[in-house]
Amino acid sequence: MTDDTYRRLFSDTPNAIVLRDAEGVILKVNASFERLFCIKAEDAVGKNLKSLLLPPDHPADGPGEWSDECIASRCETRRLRGDGEEVEVSMSFFSAPLPGADGNGKTGAFVIYRDITRQKQNDALRRSAEIKYKSIFEHSLNGIFQTTPEGGYINVNPALARIYGFASPAELIEHFKDIKNQLYVEPGRRDDFTKIMRERREVTNFESQIRKKDGEIIWITENARAVFDENRDIAYYEGTVTDITERKRAEEALEVQRARFSRLFANSPQAIALIDLNRNVVDCNKAFENLFGYRAEDIKGFGMRPLIVPDDLLTECENFRNSVLADKSAHKETLRRRRSGRIIPVSVIGFPLEVNGETSGVFYIYQDISERKAFEEQITHQAFHDALTGLPNRTLFAERLERALERGKRREGYNFAVLMVDLNKFKAVNDSLGHQAGDELLVEFSKRLRACVRAVDTVARLGGDEFAVILEEFASSGEVLGVAGRIRNLIRRPYRLAGAEVTAGASIGVVLQTRGYASADNVLRDADIAMYRAKERGEDCLVFDKKMHLDVLETINLETDLRAALDRDELTLHYQPIVSVEDETLTSFEALIRWEHPNRGLVPPDKFIPLAEESGLIVPIGEWVITEACRTLREWVDTIPGAQGVGMSVNVSSRQFPGRGLVRHVAKTLADTGLDPSLLKLEVTESVIMQDTADALNELHRLKALGVLIAIDDFGTGYSSLSYLRRMPIDHLKIDRSFISGGGDNPEENLKIIKSIVSLARTLNLKIIAEGVENEKQLEGLRLLGCDRAQGYMFSRPKPRAEARELIANHLEKRGTGIIQTDN
Ligand code: C2E
Ligand code: CA
Ligand code: CA
Repeated sequence: MTDDTYRRLFSDTPNAIVLRDAEGVILKVNASFERLFCIKAEDAVGKNLKSLLLPPDHPADGPGEWSDECIASRCETRRLRGDGEEVEVSMSFFSAPLPGADGNGKTGAFVIYRDITRQKQNDALRRSAEIKYKSIFEHSLNGIFQTTPEGGYINVNPALARIYGFASPAELIEHFKDIKNQLYVEPGRRDDFTKIMRERREVTNFESQIRKKDGEIIWITENARAVFDENRDIAYYEGTVTDITERKRAEEALEVQRARFSRLFANSPQAIALIDLNRNVVDCNKAFENLFGYRAEDIKGFGMRPLIVPDDLLTECENFRNSVLADKSAHKETLRRRRSGRIIPVSVIGFPLEVNGETSGVFYIYQDISERKAFEEQITHQAFHDALTGLPNRTLFAERLERALERGKRREGYNFAVLMVDLNKFKAVNDSLGHQAGDELLVEFSKRLRACVRAVDTVARLGGDEFAVILEEFASSGEVLGVAGRIRNLIRRPYRLAGAEVTAGASIGVVLQTRGYASADNVLRDADIAMYRAKERGEDCLVFDKKMHLDVLETINLETDLRAALDRDELTLHYQPIVSVEDETLTSFEALIRWEHPNRGLVPPDKFIPLAEESGLIVPIGEWVITEACRTLREWVDTIPGAQGVGMSVNVSSRQFPGRGLVRHVAKTLADTGLDPSLLKLEVTESVIMQDTADALNELHRLKALGVLIAIDDFGTGYSSLSYLRRMPIDHLKIDRSFISGGGDNPEENLKIIKSIVSLARTLNLKIIAEGVENEKQLEGLRLLGCDRAQGYMFSRPKPRAEARELIANHLEKRGTGIIQTDN
């Protein structure tokens, strides 16, 4: 080494160098020395090193850099600097021959100081860091690990042991020899880990399911890095493990909830829309799209009110929203508009969407209730309409009638009329052709009725075969009667029912003067009265008048009186003779009831028999008639010579049939009077047989068995068929007087009918009696037709008992035959 090199080394080295002699006197220092110890070279040179660089704690005794004893040793120590600060140094010496003049063959030494303060500090820091990290490692809540690429653990902290369910890190390390297969639940998970490591040298938030020692499966997340060796191969992995099972469970629960909700939202049959607080659509479901015809993506972010809320409901809609927000939910039924423009009834439920206690929007659930509304309407319709004909029923009719009455009170010129229409043939059709045909008749009848009136008028079925009409706002009574006439004509046209052609009529009662009525019931009552009156009188249509009302009242009074009449002996019998057509000889009498009313005078049977029938009084009255007639006959037979053969006809009402004790009573009367039964003839009408064939027929046979005669009265007015007659134990047919003296519009027709009745009677071997014979001409006709008996004013009016008795006597005298032939 040249001197120059040596000098440069001396002056440029970062180490502080002192050259001292054997006694320790400083010969030379370099610039680094000056910097390190803060001592200028001129202040150092010539000084003894021992006194210049002191150890800080004690004065320098013994060996040091200034003595030769420790030559070639190297040590670390501390020295005080020129400025009083301490400095950590590493010190080394080596002896050297002193150069030049200073030397004189003597040996000195170089002392080299290296500042190790920083290094010392670093060491201290590292140590304390180590302690700190050791503590973190030991006490961390997260697991910390180092693993080998082969799949074993090098080091783990207690937290990891705990997370994995081991008692200690040592146990864990011992347990795992193959992380890939022992730890992860998913087989390829470790491979994923190592692959990421190879590619990126670290994994972050690596979430997996792992098996704990006891087999329990938990979720962890790993953050780790790869540590490489000097050959740039992966030496090991180190990282942290956090148990995220709780979080995962919460997430899963949330996910399940979210999935459930979104499925519910998507699949709900009810239309759902979520609206934000700015009234814009956040989302809506498929059902909403279907219901309203808008696609979610088209309306998301927009207000939907202008689309689906009818203009006149916008305020209502805003109010609804406010009540949803105020009350936490609200429900209403209202109307909404479809894209097509169609308005539909919907039920809407609204409730606020709350997130963490904050309202962030409003849910609306819509349901189309068109069907329910229609159903409700149908139910209402059913409650107010007749199921068979679809016409309004009595309830609805009464309601409309009330309304019309109200209107009449308010509006001066408002007139309306009420018609009560009763179908005549309904019962007969039902009985003979079956209920199906009866129903058909009602339906057809109701259609025809409807056809006769205007749309504003009401046609209702009140029940059975009873219909009613309200004619609104007619101008004149003629107009109303015109409608009634139209009804009558249309109703009369034949009906095709169950393959048969049937004609039917109707009786119509009209209330023209509806003003002043207090209630619908009263109007109906009077229309009813007029209708019954029409039926009674055999007229198509009658308008209610005050007299009818009085008549009704009278009927009511009459009924009260009639109950007393029997007890008070006010009933009496008149007797009308029946003669032979051939020679006009007397054969028998018909007993005809009369009522000697204390105030009204003689009341004819037409006035009170129907009343007696309705009230059931006909049974005791009928029995009284039989008894009285038989007593009279007994007396005549006993007291008038030659009258033994005279017969007595008694009228029997269908209401005395069957099961009303008629047979018993007749038998008893015959026994009591001891009369020849064949002198007694019971006159029954066709309706007796029509009402209940089996029982009535049975009773007739029992009567017949008593030996009495049976006649069909008023024949030709009913509907009895030939087959009925054949099975009946009858002896006589009485042709109704309407065919004889009823005048009628068609004498020719009447004659034809009589002719056919006579020929029918012949084939059945029945005697024919013609009633209502008033003149010679009629008698002559009957004679030509071969009629057997005649009865009528021509021969005699019905006479009180005493007069009738005289009539027999006179007749016997006049005839001179002295005897009356028995009629059977
Ligand atoms: P009916 O059985 O047909 O009786 C005959 C009716 O014709 C009687 O009326 C009689 O006065 C009337 N008459 C007889 N000859 C003529 C005539 O030439 N011209 C006209 N125009 N009429 C004639 P009446 O006595 O007023 O009796 C009416 C009806 O009352 C009877 O009709 C019968 O159905 C019923 N009736 C009468 N008495 C009784 C009774 O005791 N019991 C029952 N159940 N009904 C009776
Ligand atoms: Ca009669
Ligand atoms: Ca008659």
